[in-house]
Amino acid sequence: MDLNTVLDVRDGRRRAPWRQGDAWLGGGTYLFSEPQPHLRRLVDLSRMGWEPVLRHPDGSLEIAATCTVAQLSRYGRTLDAPAAPLFEQCCRAFLASFKIWNMATVGGNLCNALPAGPMISLTSALDGVCLLRAQDGTSRRVPAAEFVTGAGRKDLGEGELLRSVTLPAAALDRRTAFRQASLYGLGRSGALVIGTLDPRDGSLAVTVTAATVRPFRLWFALPPTRDALRAAIDTAVGGSDWYDDIHGLPRWRRHMALHLAEQVRHELTEDGVR
Ligand SMILES: Cc1cc2nc3c(=O)[nH]c(=O)nc-3n(C[C@H](O)[C@H](O)[C@H](O)COP(=O)(O)OP(=O)(O)OC[C@H]3O[C@@H](n4cnc5c(N)ncnc54)[C@H](O)[C@@H]3O)c2cc1C
Repeated sequence: MDLNTVLDVRDGRRRAPWRQGDAWLGGGTYLFSEPQPHLRRLVDLSRMGWEPVLRHPDGSLEIAATCTVAQLSRYGRTLDAPAAPLFEQCCRAFLASFKIWNMATVGGNLCNALPAGPMISLTSALDGVCLLRAQDGTSRRVPAAEFVTGAGRKDLGEGELLRSVTLPAAALDRRTAFRQASLYGLGRSGALVIGTLDPRDGSLAVTVTAATVRPFRLWFALPPTRDALRAAIDTAVGGSDWYDDIHGLPRWRRHMALHLAEQVRHELTEDGVR
């Protein structure tokens, strides 16, 4: 797609005042996929030189906004942690061609804020914390599960940059269960549910994405019964929170989310039915 209103591409490493019509350029897989008549200039992040994934001494994992899906997938396959399989499962949940797989960035996926954003699912389920940098140089941190506030909506000010998402060490130690449903084979996710079981205290978290306009993360001190889980999801997710587009009707998405949530609960708890 030619973005014929864009007159300039600025290297993100160069400091210059933010202007109306500017946009950060991650991998460009969304920006170049449809007309962007409001844009005049792209600020390219591809040469920032940020380490794609950094393991800190405290065991936490910092994923740079510029880390591509391909890089994250590769990293996930080398990660020695109970939650490691979730990296590949979420990367594969992308409706991704070769180009998208190799170009799309974790930051671009979060900032695009599509309900079917699998990097939103991954980072929300693993207690990710977004590091945001404003144009005046100040930083703030927002939980990934709260960063996306609706379909295409996120907690990001004008010119604010998503620098990275950090997953705490404890989240990587959790057992995980993953389920995804699409209306058609290799289709965009219509419902994606992730369960995580904390080995330290037996608590269970269930994160519903893709079916809903934003992530819903439900935490239970002890694994709930099937009925309690169902009731908790129905209480948390209001009628208008079930997403409606060509990839699935809200009623179908709710049905699948409840069904998949029960499957992850069953997989992660020994008795299954309580
Ligand atoms: C065929 C096709 C299939 C797709 N399938 C899916 C899918 O299954 N799920 C899905 O979620 N998306 C999908 N997409 C949309 C898109 O490819 C992804 O959302 C992708 O992750 C966007 O990442 P990117 O790095 O290319 O972002 P870009 O296109 O570079 O940017 C996306 C948005 O985020 C902003 N942005 C980028 N990086 C930052 C940053 N660090 N800080 C602040 N703002 C930033 C940009 O200004 C822009 O508004 C698909 C697109 C196509 C064309």
